[in-house]
Amino acid sequence: MTKRNILLTPGPTPVPPQVLQVMAEPIFHHRTPRYRKLFGEVSEGLKGIFRTAQSVYTFTGSGTLAMEASVVNFLSPGDKVIALEAGKFGERWGEIAARYQLNAVRIKVPYGETISPDEVGKALKQNPDAKAVFGTHCETSTGALLDIQAIAKAVSNTPAIFVVDAISALAADRLEMDVWGIDIVVSGSQKGLMIPPGLTFLAASEKAKVLNKTAKLPRYYVDLTQYEKSLKDSDTPFTPALTLVLALREAIHMIQKEGIEKVWTRTAELANYTREAIKKLGLELFSKRPANTLTAVKVPAGIEGEKLVSIMRDEKGVTMAGGQGEMKGKVFRIAHMGFITHADLETGIAVLKETLNELKSKGSNKVSV
Ligand SMILES: *Cc1c(COP(=O)(O)O)cnc(C)c1O
Repeated sequence: MTKRNILLTPGPTPVPPQVLQVMAEPIFHHRTPRYRKLFGEVSEGLKGIFRTAQSVYTFTGSGTLAMEASVVNFLSPGDKVIALEAGKFGERWGEIAARYQLNAVRIKVPYGETISPDEVGKALKQNPDAKAVFGTHCETSTGALLDIQAIAKAVSNTPAIFVVDAISALAADRLEMDVWGIDIVVSGSQKGLMIPPGLTFLAASEKAKVLNKTAKLPRYYVDLTQYEKSLKDSDTPFTPALTLVLALREAIHMIQKEGIEKVWTRTAELANYTREAIKKLGLELFSKRPANTLTAVKVPAGIEGEKLVSIMRDEKGVTMAGGQGEMKGKVFRIAHMGFITHADLETGIAVLKETLNELKSKGSNKVSV
């Protein structure tokens, strides 16, 4: 029997074989027409996935680098910003803002909940001098989906820009950058885009670009003006992670072939299947507004959450994610984005059921002896 190895984590996600294959191609030099053709194709393709007519800039780094880039490129020391914190990744916005000594108004809700557009509207009324609102589309630590479309509407009537971390949600939950009026979208490579970690992306609206012209926070590696200038020649200012760019072209081709709308509906179906299967096992979803990107499940009473995850991973070859930070041991998370299939999820659920039963019978033995 081949050893099972099913990855159901919300990043990295499984990489399709045809994508892995192009990553084995011999390396070539990047200051060449060959690279510019490749990068031009990729940069155009990303626009269709971000649903924007704006340029999409590519940085070498993990998702957090593009989050930091969307702070330092658009703001000045002391600027007031509003951070929407519905979990660990929302808190990262507040942390980055604080580190750059911005005046951050942090709106925090209990884990599992979302932040309503009304709350954002109220905060903007109370802080009319806010330069930016930072939010998270899918809060990967809790599985909650924020109503980005409605929040974008609330922000668009103010001078503030709306910055959205769609690192996990891109190519999983529906996202319409231009139509919804989002000013900045950031994403990463290792989630819905189905390639390994190492690339991160940022797209900015005209409203954001105006702010960029006067933004005084220091920046060098992620300075957008350099990326903008290079992108005119389908190029990057610094050495690109070209193996990952090759992989990305292949993954974008796959998404284009299926169609982004289809990717969203397929992911929604997988999410639905997972949520129903979880309920059938008598388990509870953690979020009241669950994303299609991933499902967070409450660890049932009497079960050690971390142990459940490690047994499934180390003994049964199914990797789900545990809880992060204050959620450790309280939830486990199942991704259904990217190259994850119905069959993967079916096996994952079966293994979950089996492991829960084993742990329960062990637990009751202990009590009765
Ligand atoms: C994965 C993720 C990130 C973090 O990205 P890194 O690639 O680890 O830097 C940020 N935000 C959200 C919502 C994520 O899911």
